[in-house]
Amino acid sequence: MRILVTGGAGYIGSVVSKLLLERGHEVVILDNLSTGHAAAVPPGAKLVRVDLRERAAVKALLRALEPEAVMHFAANIQVGESVRRPLKYLGDNVRNTLHVLEAMLGAGVRRFVFSSTAAIFAPSQQPLREDAPIGPESPYGESKYLVERILCWLGELAGLRYASLRYFNAAGAWQGLGEDHHPETHLIPRVLRVALGQAPKVQIYGQNYPTPDGTCVRDYVHVYDLAEAHLLALTALDGGSRAYNVGSGRGFSVREVIEVARRVTGHPLPVEICPPRPGDAPWLVADPGRIRRELGWSPCYSELEQIVSSAWEWHRAHPHGYSEEKDQGE
Ligand code: UDP
Repeated sequence: MRILVTGGAGYIGSVVSKLLLERGHEVVILDNLSTGHAAAVPPGAKLVRVDLRERAAVKALLRALEPEAVMHFAANIQVGESVRRPLKYLGDNVRNTLHVLEAMLGAGVRRFVFSSTAAIFAPSQQPLREDAPIGPESPYGESKYLVERILCWLGELAGLRYASLRYFNAAGAWQGLGEDHHPETHLIPRVLRVALGQAPKVQIYGQNYPTPDGTCVRDYVHVYDLAEAHLLALTALDGGSRAYNVGSGRGFSVREVIEVARRVTGHPLPVEICPPRPGDAPWLVADPGRIRRELGWSPCYSELEQIVSSAWEWHRAHPHGYSEEKDQGE
């Protein structure tokens, strides 16, 4: 298929693009490179620099390209920032997705794979099945849920075929593609930064959550396994629309992640207890039963040790991320 990947120069989008190319698909990446990296665009993919806020440009691209499917990764993704800047999330994330959907339907494109999130769920009994109570704790989660609702309507009324993949915590690196956000807010890269000597201590955001050791519990899924879920979901689209929780099914606390990172890096990783980060849910663990049963998804690299080791390898090779200038100075 010819597939348009928005945000394909970003972390998960670049891995999915590379996997699509490996499986013989044609990939066009739409990215404004505001947070993505040209160096993460896999060889063989075409990069088109368009900003999703530019409705007419998005429309023109879809018309000209006539892709058979769109995978939509491009979005603002920081939970903490979304609490400080709600409109950036409730506005841009939703509006930009509408621009893509409008352009798709205008060009007769009906297959859509959407990057949703575990952050749409209300705190409730874990692990979370797809029908667990919805109740985003942050504008980020809400923006993704609003898009899920829009997809439901367009599925019913406009013939859209979609898959909403609710990511739990994507982590790890694959074939030279890793995580490089500015600022970096995610736990594993921030821990590894301490091991690289780039920060003095690992900051733990809160230790009085209702969890076994008081720190937040998350379900870490290797970015390659997550990418496989996208390819399976794409293939299954013609059979109908679906939402899937994509996680390993196991939860690890912040302290447990740090402990694994100590083993992997051999660094003592001193910690500092900081206030909780607004918008963080105490506990997010997937029940991935549906995607396993219906799509045959089976994660291969999502042992926490494998995830952290692959990330560590990537961060050691790219101590300043994709930034070539700084890398050359090393
Ligand atoms: N976290 C932390 N210190 C950090 C970064 C993250 O304690 O330097 C915690 C954060 O509060 C959350 C968990 O680690 O409970 C995972 O955070 P991350 O930002 O990686 O992913 P999220 O679950 O927010 O999508």
